[in-house]
Amino acid sequence: MSIISDNLKKIKPSPTIAVTQKARELRAAGKDVIGLGAGEPDFDTPDNIKDAAINAIKEGDTKYTAVDGTPTLKKAIVDKFKRENNLNYSVDQITVGTGGKQVLYNAFMATLNKGDEVIIPAPYWVSYPDMVLLAGGKPKIVKCVEEDGFKLTPKKLKKAISKKTKWLILNSPSNPTGVGYTKDEIQDLAQVLIKNKKVHILSDDIYEHIKYDNFNFFTIAQISKLKERTLTMNGVSKSYAMTGWRIGYAAGPKEIIKAIRKIQSQSTSNPSSISQAAATEALNGKQDFIKERSDAFKERRDFVVSSLNNIKGISCLTPNGAFYVFPSCKKLLGKKTKIKTDSDFAEKLLDKVNVAVVQGSAFGLDGYFRISYATSMEKLKVAMERIKSFCESLN
Ligand code: PMP
Ligand code: GLU
Repeated sequence: MSIISDNLKKIKPSPTIAVTQKARELRAAGKDVIGLGAGEPDFDTPDNIKDAAINAIKEGDTKYTAVDGTPTLKKAIVDKFKRENNLNYSVDQITVGTGGKQVLYNAFMATLNKGDEVIIPAPYWVSYPDMVLLAGGKPKIVKCVEEDGFKLTPKKLKKAISKKTKWLILNSPSNPTGVGYTKDEIQDLAQVLIKNKKVHILSDDIYEHIKYDNFNFFTIAQISKLKERTLTMNGVSKSYAMTGWRIGYAAGPKEIIKAIRKIQSQSTSNPSSISQAAATEALNGKQDFIKERSDAFKERRDFVVSSLNNIKGISCLTPNGAFYVFPSCKKLLGKKTKIKTDSDFAEKLLDKVNVAVVQGSAFGLDGYFRISYATSMEKLKVAMERIKSFCESLN
């Protein structure tokens, strides 16, 4: 009998992390690999944030803190929600964890009973279904097609809701498509949810600040009738280039926040005290670099989208946020090219021309692949040349 639990056997390791690790290893072995797999900004954490962490160490801010975040950081988060989203929360409606990832995981652990369903629009971020499975729930995947901009429609949402539905996950701008929902689109989905009265909403807003073309970010908790049923997750990883510091947070109903605290008190305890001091400075300090960095990402997005659309067999939507594109490689799959699936495509791309991307099927939609363009223009230029020559060799 295996020592490994049945529950763990239901899940797989994170494919985005696996591709990133593979690219790292190939590079260490001397291969000239360009990694477009990792979903993290290539920019450095700003100096004021680093200084806050250094000061925290020097001042002895190195002990256990309150399990789900220091009062100072929670206050900074309350202020952030008020300032940026016009949302009022009290400090006891806030939880801080070791990355948004831990917050999401805890939320599912705290709320799912065996068989409870979680609606996950696909393409989705790779970790949602596996987290739900680990917590004993049932992912209900709803395919959202390119013709709808990869977005969930009210009709599909209505059809997906059952008596067992506990959560709907919304992620805007999205990983892996980069597409954001407009206020109108969110209001249309909200109509279905207001009528239903039961389903809770988990809004993953981690890409809130990475947006282009005057896209107006709107989050579903801003709809007052749904605020009581919404847990809004966010974090400093992407907006402040702080992926390694591991701070994420959420705001929502006190009952859920309290339950998350209970799990954290019996598992990891508080996130790093030093990282919390840094995150407090991130949220309270200057914000001007966010726009500057978004502008740099926009230049890369424009370059990547137009380069991909110039490749025969590839087509790519122009997304309005995050740092991903999700191009189709469907026309390159089949007998003629001897490439059967998007996974084969990604594997061969790495093998033949040393470019690491993640296959669309990892995000629940076959026939696509994800590129993270959070890397330098120089590298992107070489990568686009390589992808072009690979695809042309197939035509
Ligand atoms: N949600 C989405 C959609 C993500 O892409 C990520 C990045 N891994 C996370 C949540 C979690 O990020 P972190 O744990 O670094 O806060
Ligand atoms: N969110 C990033 C990605 O999708 C980081 C890796 C992960 O946590 O999955 O690549």
